[in-house]
Amino acid sequence: MRNGSTNQSGKILATSEEFVPTAFHLPSELSASALPDLESVSWQVAMKRAIRSGSELRKAVGLPPDSAEVMGADGKLACEHDFQTFAPLEFVARIQPGNPDDPLLKQVLPVVDEQVEQAGFAADPVGDLNALVSPGVLHKYEGRALILTTSACGIHCRYCFRREFPYRETGSRQDDWLPSLNYLQNHPEVEEVILSGGDPLTTSDEKLSELILAIENIPHLKRLRIHSRMPIVIPQRITPELVKRLSSSRLAVWMVIHANHPQELSESVISRLGNMIDAGIPVLNQAVLLRGVNDQAEILIDLCRCLVNHRIQPYYLHQLDRVRGAAHFEVPVETGRKIIESLRAALPGFAVPQYVVEEPGAKSKSPILDTHCNDNP
Ligand SMILES: *Cc1c(COP(=O)(O)O)cnc(C)c1O
Ligand code: SF4
Repeated sequence: MRNGSTNQSGKILATSEEFVPTAFHLPSELSASALPDLESVSWQVAMKRAIRSGSELRKAVGLPPDSAEVMGADGKLACEHDFQTFAPLEFVARIQPGNPDDPLLKQVLPVVDEQVEQAGFAADPVGDLNALVSPGVLHKYEGRALILTTSACGIHCRYCFRREFPYRETGSRQDDWLPSLNYLQNHPEVEEVILSGGDPLTTSDEKLSELILAIENIPHLKRLRIHSRMPIVIPQRITPELVKRLSSSRLAVWMVIHANHPQELSESVISRLGNMIDAGIPVLNQAVLLRGVNDQAEILIDLCRCLVNHRIQPYYLHQLDRVRGAAHFEVPVETGRKIIESLRAALPGFAVPQYVVEEPGAKSKSPILDTHCNDNP
């Protein structure tokens, strides 16, 4: 059982019994200089001591508390009850103290803007519930099926399109992948399995290895893709054991990480991902275009340049999925197009991500083309 009492409907949460919070005193200096110490603990400990409320997070980054009238009696904003705050210290240390506009802070700090209802922003913006073909499996696109490996994440991104996803009702459970495996077994047209979630790398190496073994034992499966933000938020998650397990698989293993801003790419993030790439696992990055975070060409140019300098290929730049509570993150498509044009002018072709939007029912992610070849807004 999960112990997320504030989260009755089984949405994304990191409060499974493995990650119950531990009492932990924040280092007085929670800034980039504290990173080596922070990352010397195991990733499981990092999960347990993550910050779990907006007020705690504000304190940790040296910001004044929210005004009393917007906070509930429990010291939380109403939106925190819908989607709990969760920010590991390793990520928080990369936030510039005292800066309310910090691009990393904006991704994790709950704000009253989330409570503003906005037409067109819904609970299941990408039609995932329609693509649920079996408990825990989404099969939308030809040849690849996505497994909801777990509902836990290593960070709670306020813009997340799965923030309202009913994990509990969809039957994806960390201790029961059998229905998913049966589905894969019975569908020879699937050649690639995508482990997603939640975040599959919040699963232990042992459990993950069992799951991978079961996938390896299905002969028609050729590729394994892992979608995870853990390498960015808690880089020590890339353990030598994990690298070894993935690189010795009979499957072609691809890793897709999720960074939105160059400030997320700390030295250890880069070096741990380097270990993975050295072991023969290609690493791609996806980002979401977010207002106030990365909606300027220079920021995304820096991000993509840093990625390719370290052999990571920018894959997708996603237009925001219109999930309830995230309207304040939306960037107009026209702005996105101009940004992509600037990227194209500044970077090698392989460093420019595909700008895409997810449309319910479509056969793939839908490309948003450059201004000069598409007049639709
Ligand atoms: C995004 C997504 C994929 C992967 O799409 P690619 O274009 O291959 O990266 C697969 N299945 C589902 C359900 C998805 O949402
Ligand atoms: S964007 Fe990814 S890592 Fe962030 S909350 Fe959503 S599923 Fe979890």
